[in-house]
Amino acid sequence: MKTHNKTPEELMRSRYDAFVKEDWEYIANTSTSQNLKELKDAVPLRWLKLDVLNAYDNIVEFKAYYVLNSITEVLHEKSTFIKEDNMWKYHKGELFPSKIQRNEVCPCGSGKKFKKCCS
Ligand SMILES: [Zn+2]
Repeated sequence: MKTHNKTPEELMRSRYDAFVKEDWEYIANTSTSQNLKELKDAVPLRWLKLDVLNAYDNIVEFKAYYVLNSITEVLHEKSTFIKEDNMWKYHKGELFPSKIQRNEVCPCGSGKKFKKCCS
């Protein structure tokens, strides 16, 4: 996977795809702070959906929905990217406490409300 010429938002989306595929090498190669061993040892999550909320300058704010131990949850993060050797890389993330709203459309893709589906 080429990382050249990607904007921070494109890079963030490609990194999400890599998390889905558990392509740890790509994730480590596009980050200044995440190493391969740490990533491989991480708890496996089943990712459902990515929503980019905001992208400007070197910042991408997103919500990523996942399932862990049969519980559907959301990760709300504001990521900071920096340029290294003329390539954008993930630098760090600021996490926000966030919950899936009961009336939100369920992230599993059923089209039902969360409270009537995976909650
Ligand atoms: Zn559902």
